Amino acid sequence: MNAQLREKYGTRTRRVVLKVSGQSFCRAGERGISMDEVVHLAEQTSRAAGRGVQIAIVMGGGNILRGAQFTSGNAGIEEATAHYMGMLATVMNGLALQDALESLGCQTRLLTAIRMEAVAEPYIRRRARRHLEKGRIVLLAAGTGSPFVTTDTAAAQRALELEADVLLKATRVDGVYSDDPEKNAHAVLYSELTYHQVQQQNLRVMDPTAIAQCMEHDMPIVVFNYLKVGNIERAVQGERLGTLISSRERSAAFSEGSTS
Ligand code: UDP
Repeated sequence: MNAQLREKYGTRTRRVVLKVSGQSFCRAGERGISMDEVVHLAEQTSRAAGRGVQIAIVMGGGNILRGAQFTSGNAGIEEATAHYMGMLATVMNGLALQDALESLGCQTRLLTAIRMEAVAEPYIRRRARRHLEKGRIVLLAAGTGSPFVTTDTAAAQRALELEADVLLKATRVDGVYSDDPEKNAHAVLYSELTYHQVQQQNLRVMDPTAIAQCMEHDMPIVVFNYLKVGNIERAVQGERLGTLISSRERSAAFSEGSTS
C-alpha cells in the first residue's frame, strides 16, 4: 500500500496478492495440470492463510496455453482468440487450486474476469475485498479479461485495486538474477532493485506493463522461490526473502547469491 493509501486506511490486516505462474501447476519441463504440484502449492498457501493474512491469488495459464504462441494467422487461430484461450486456461488452474485448497479446509472464492457464473463468481472489486476481509482465499482467474496482456499485468492491476500491501511473485528460483540462473551458474542474485533498474537492465521478472504499473503507484514487488517449503508463509507475513523491487535506492543492491 502506498503512503497515501496507508494514511487513508490506517493499520489493518495485511493483504497480499500472490502471482503464481502456470508452471506452478505442472511438473518442471512438462505441461498440463499435475495435482501433486497443485497440492504442494495449496498446502503452502493454506499454511500462509493460517497466519491471518488476507491472500488473493492470480493464476497464470502458461502450463496450458499462452496467446503469444499464436501469431496472427498461425494455425488458423487469431491472436486475440488465442489470448482468450489463455485466459480460460487460468480458470482451469483456478478450479484445480480451489478444490485443492478446500480439501485442506480453506475457505475460498474463485472470481473470474470473464463471466462464467456456472463455475465461478464474476470479479467485482468490492466483492473481492469483502471475501478477503472475511478471511477467504480469493482466487482471481481469467487475467484482466482483455487480450494481449499477461497475468503479470493482471496481478499488478489487482494488487493496486485491492490495495494490497505487496505483490508477491512466486518463482522456481530464489529471486531476480543478473542472468538466467538455470543457464548461467555465475548469475548474481539481487536482494533489492528499483523499478528503474529492472527496466534499464531489462531484467525478466514480470512483463514491462506490470513493472510500469507498480512503479507508477509505488506497489512493492517481492520475487521469491515458492518451491522452498515455508516460503509462501514467510513471504505473506512480510519476512525478508528473495528480491524486493521498489522505488527506494538502497546501497547493497545485490548479493553474491548461489543459484540453489
Ligand atoms: N491473458 C490475456 N489477458 C490477461 C491475462 C492473460 O490475454 O489479462 C492470456 C495471455 O495470452 C497469456 C495467457 O492468458 O499468455 C496465460 O497467462 P500468462 O502467460 O500470464 O501465464 P503464466 O506465464 O503466468 O503461466
